[in-house]
Amino acid sequence: MTKLDRCIASLMQGNKAMDKHSPCVQVIEVRQQQKAGEKKLIVTISDGVHSCPAIIIKPTQKPDKFSVIKILESLKHTRDILLIVKYTIEETLDTMIGSPKSYTSDSNVSESSSSTTATGTSNSSASRSSSSNVSEHRKPVKKSAGVEAADSFYDDGGMSSVLQEGEKMTDDQVAPITSIGPYEQNWVIKARITQKSDLKHWDKGTTKGCLFSIELLDEWNGQIRATFFNDAAKKYVNVLKEGGVYFFSGGKVKDANKKFTTIPHNYEITFDRTASIQAAKETAIPEGNFNFTRFCDVASVEENAIVDIIGVVKQLSEVKDFTTKNNRKTKRCNVTLIDNSSNDPNSFFQVDLTIWGDMCDSIQFNEGDVVIFKNVRKSNYNGISLNTVNNTRIITRSSIPEYQALAEWCGDHSSGFGDEVAIKLTQRQTAANSTKTFKRKNVIQDIKNTNVEDVMNDALTFYLRAYVSYIKPDLWYEACPNEKCHRKVQQDGDRYVCNVCGPVPSCIRQYKATFAITDWTGKQWCLGFNNAVLEIFDKVSADEMCEKANIDTQYMPMVLSRANWTRFVFYIRVTADRAQNNEMKLKYTASRIYNIDYATEAKSILSTIKDYGF
Ligand SMILES: [Zn+2]
Repeated sequence: MTKLDRCIASLMQGNKAMDKHSPCVQVIEVRQQQKAGEKKLIVTISDGVHSCPAIIIKPTQKPDKFSVIKILESLKHTRDILLIVKYTIEETLDTMIGSPKSYTSDSNVSESSSSTTATGTSNSSASRSSSSNVSEHRKPVKKSAGVEAADSFYDDGGMSSVLQEGEKMTDDQVAPITSIGPYEQNWVIKARITQKSDLKHWDKGTTKGCLFSIELLDEWNGQIRATFFNDAAKKYVNVLKEGGVYFFSGGKVKDANKKFTTIPHNYEITFDRTASIQAAKETAIPEGNFNFTRFCDVASVEENAIVDIIGVVKQLSEVKDFTTKNNRKTKRCNVTLIDNSSNDPNSFFQVDLTIWGDMCDSIQFNEGDVVIFKNVRKSNYNGISLNTVNNTRIITRSSIPEYQALAEWCGDHSSGFGDEVAIKLTQRQTAANSTKTFKRKNVIQDIKNTNVEDVMNDALTFYLRAYVSYIKPDLWYEACPNEKCHRKVQQDGDRYVCNVCGPVPSCIRQYKATFAITDWTGKQWCLGFNNAVLEIFDKVSADEMCEKANIDTQYMPMVLSRANWTRFVFYIRVTADRAQNNEMKLKYTASRIYNIDYATEAKSILSTIKDYGF
């Protein structure tokens, strides 16, 4: 039997080098029958672990369901869809290989950012999360409102006649949400409404009208926002139900206005008189979709962005009255949250979140609980903090893997979480301690000016923009393959021994690199662990690099010279460490490394200029 190649994650990250390997994948679904004159075929492909939608352009031979094809040339079309340009059919099977989970770009983010749980392909937590049930506020899982709505629609013979107009749409016509764009016409999508706003009216004197918007999710994890205007808004606002699944067509696709949405799609849909929407029955579309930002990544998110987060409640303050700058009376409640996204198993990230207004009255969690906050706003107040907004949802119980993982992590730390090892993203201002306030961007000279006394009790953290100027060639270590461990192992005959887990049959490689960073003020040696170092090497894993280095002696010199003099934003944590001679010395750890986002950088420079009063 042909072996499948674990290539979907890599292809979805736009890794062109994959084509050289001509990976084999299995076609697990053929969505659209090839009709005369039609030059493309929509399929779902699988590598046994992940699956993703793909469009075969000008198919020469039509693959059957479960055929194994060899991809000779491919392109990434949009965020989550692949275009297959050239391929050959290798074999026709009659069953599916493995049990692939649909790949989302988030699977990769959460894999690479969770140091304690990441192990390559087995942990596509984000993609699994969306297919799990989520129950809010400790209610038992029940049939979603949408399924009920759709069922009753069929049962009552179609009271909502609006949803029966026009030619009946079918599954065969359906295209993935990620594939639609302004140049695609006559598309049909089938999606669940995951969020729906109320009808809003506007009146600007010369123009008035009304609108409402919805967020859609399809079975390939594609998401898009859609807005209904005027007649279409009035026609559909009471017919479409949050949670319901419908066929949609006849909308206009335009550039997404990122101000109003957190959905990653480049486009959004507007519906007017030409809209055509029909109720759809059974479906494999998940109930909801979270796009979690781990605390280690919160710093790199733009100010005022809306994010989904999940954390453990470390501290829950009392609800207090609060008067805003505009003299409006409200309530607030501060929650200190932590998560396990730190590279260093002995520390954890901590961030403060404020629940505002009436939402304070319905707090149903306690210290030690794992809580999901869907849609909170990031602010740069006191370093970094988070705030609830109107459509924030607080979810206190869930069966998604991220939730379970955090609950377990919490159990492992039943003795509590020491304050001294917290990496505090929120720095509450105290006048006496002003040197400890969070510095958004520093230069290397700043970290050189740090003394051991400054960091005896609490680590100092710095953001720097600098070049990698030298990387020591000894880049990785042999690590325990257990997800939560990754400690160094010793070889013992044909097996390996971990100090914590005991003998293990194999090992994986994890980066632990010493490198110099340089800016205009100087140079500093620092240490980086796996997830941070992955950024320097374009996310090539240590295992992959080691494998290539073993077959090609030129590979490592090439990789190292290519990485040199590349520029990143470094999040450096300075701590005091006892040296062999028992003296305390400073230790510099690059906890996170980020690609430079020039738009954010430019904004930060502008705001600095503004601070000078220009
Ligand atoms: Zn271990």
